[in-house]
Amino acid sequence: MQTIGIIGGMSWYSTINYYRIINARVQEVLGGHHSARILIDSLDFDAVRACQLAEDWEAAGAMLAASGRRLQDAGADTVLIGTNLMHKVAPAVTAALDVPLLHIADAVGAAARRNGYDRLAVLGTKWVMGESFYADRLAGFGITALTPDPERHDALDAIIFDELTQGVVTDASRAMFVAEIEKLAARGAQAVVLACTEIELLISPSDSPLPVLDSMATHALAAAEVCLEPVSA
Ligand code: GLU
Repeated sequence: MQTIGIIGGMSWYSTINYYRIINARVQEVLGGHHSARILIDSLDFDAVRACQLAEDWEAAGAMLAASGRRLQDAGADTVLIGTNLMHKVAPAVTAALDVPLLHIADAVGAAARRNGYDRLAVLGTKWVMGESFYADRLAGFGITALTPDPERHDALDAIIFDELTQGVVTDASRAMFVAEIEKLAARGAQAVVLACTEIELLISPSDSPLPVLDSMATHALAAAEVCLEPVSA
């Protein structure tokens, strides 16, 4: 079995679900008392958030790269970043590692193609929706990403950072996300990517007018498949 290293704590509300899903899948496949070999380097999200607010992506990249190195040095065979947004600095993390980085948008893109989708609504932080680093990665899978109107980005971003990453879930915010999904469905989206690892705390498949691709669960299941691979000699 391979060891997966998680750069976590962004936020801890989703890191805990990565841990649960990876272990559940490995136990489901291997049975008995089997569980996954997992290392977690859980960052203080306040320090990461400070970099985001200052748009200091160089400092953020250095912080996550150091985390990735710690995981590699501790024995991780593959590393993942347990957030969508912080894949903005994935190139810095990849450059610091000798082991592979399991990219969240690759896991989402592959799952979308398995389901026959090529036109996806993408909901996440303002950087995930407004910049191209996430959509470009999905485009590599032949997928077109549709995002809400730019004037809606700040309000959705505020729900993520003022509520979800602090463990707050409200009906009013759920209604706001559902309304955006409805608009994107009208623009031709076949499914919605919950492209922030905490949105699944707010939106369940039964809340959504479109089929849901939860980035956290999809990424965690891809990580479980990596864990199940034998360690190469
Ligand atoms: N977990 C969120 C995401 O998946 C946002 C928190 C963050 O990493 O800044 O994008």
